[in-house]
Amino acid sequence: MKRTMNFNPGPAALPLEVLEEAREEFLDFAGTGMSVLEVSHRSPEYDKVHNETQESLRRLLGIPGDYKILFMGGGASTQFYLVPSNFMRDHEPADYVLTGTWSKKAFKEAGVIGDARLAATTEENGKFTRIPKLEECRFSDGATYVHITSNNTIFGTQWHTVPDVSAPLVADMSSDFLWKPFDITDYAMVYAGAQKNLGPAGVTVVVIRDDFASGGREGLPTMMSYKTFINKNSLFNTPPCFAIYLVGKTLKWLEAKGGLEAQYKENVAKADLLYGTIGKYEGFYRSPVEPSSRSYMNVVFRLPTEDLEKRFIAESKDAGMNGLKGHRSVGGMRASIYNAIPLAWVEALADFMDTFAKRHG
Ligand SMILES: *Cc1c(COP(=O)(O)O)cnc(C)c1O
Repeated sequence: MKRTMNFNPGPAALPLEVLEEAREEFLDFAGTGMSVLEVSHRSPEYDKVHNETQESLRRLLGIPGDYKILFMGGGASTQFYLVPSNFMRDHEPADYVLTGTWSKKAFKEAGVIGDARLAATTEENGKFTRIPKLEECRFSDGATYVHITSNNTIFGTQWHTVPDVSAPLVADMSSDFLWKPFDITDYAMVYAGAQKNLGPAGVTVVVIRDDFASGGREGLPTMMSYKTFINKNSLFNTPPCFAIYLVGKTLKWLEAKGGLEAQYKENVAKADLLYGTIGKYEGFYRSPVEPSSRSYMNVVFRLPTEDLEKRFIAESKDAGMNGLKGHRSVGGMRASIYNAIPLAWVEALADFMDTFAKRHG
C-alpha cells in the first residue's frame, strides 16, 4: 500500500494505526454483527465508545470534574455563533482578539448577537503575521468573556502564552488542541473541530466549566443551548457517532504513545526541523511570521517567486507529498504537521526542501 505523505490543513492525516483498527472492526463492531455506522446511539456498545472517549480526554489533559466534555455538530464555525448566543448579555460587551481569518469570522458572528468589541488586531495590509503582546490588548471592564484563537491555521501563528485576563477566557483551539499539555483551568471554555488535530470532520469537542455554562442564557432553541448538551451528555439527539468513535481511537493512540508530554516533544522536533531548514536557506525560503509567534502546527513559508512556488508544489507531489499549498487567501506554502504526522514525513519534507533549494537557489 502506498500512503501519501499528507500535509493537508484539515481534514488532515489520521494515525495509520487508528485507520487500521477501524478497518478491522468495520463490519463487526464490538461483536454486534453490525458496523459501528449501523448501531443505535442508545446501545450499550455505543455508550461505551462515547464515555470512553470522554474519559481518555479527561486523563490526557487532567480535566477536573467541574468541566464537562461535549460532542457537538456543525463544526467550529457553529461555535462562532453559539458562544455569543449563550453568553453575551444585554449591555455587557464580549472582547475578541483578532489574529487571523477564523477569529475575524468569530468576531463577525458575535457582532450579530451583541456588543462585540475588538480587544486587539494584528491585521496589517490584510495579513496577520504575529500574535499581539498583552500590552496591546484593550480589554473591556465587565466583559462577559474574552475570545482568542489559539492557533491560526492559515497564517501559521500561535499563542505561546495564555493571556492573563480577568474575564472568562474562551478559545478556539481547532488546529492545536492537544498539541501539548496545557492547564484547562486557565479557560472557561475551549472548542475544537476534530478534523485538524483530533479525528475526522463531523464532531466538535467542547470543554466547558460548569459555572460558566450555568450562567448561559435561558430560553434559547434547544439545540443552541450548551445546557442541553450538558444535561443529556451530548445525547439529546443523535450524535456524530462515527466521528466520535474515531476521535476516541485517536485519543487512545495518543495515550499509548506516552500522552501529551511525548507528543509535545515530537511536535517540537518536527517544527524545529522545518523552521531550521527555512533558516538554513535564508534568501531562498522565507517565513513571513514573526519568530516568537510561529506555529508548531502550520508552518508557513514563501519561495523567491510564485513560479518557484508552483514548481515546489508540483515536484513535492511527485515525491509523494500532498497538501503543501498555502491557503488561497495568502499563497505560498504551508506544511500542516499535526499530531498524526510522523516525524519521518517531516524529515522527508526537510530533505526535499534541501534538494530543491540546492537545485533552484
Ligand atoms: C478550520 C478552522 C475552523 C473552521 O472549522 P469548521 O469545522 O470547518 O467550521 C475554525 N477555527 C479554526 C482555528 C480552524 O482552523
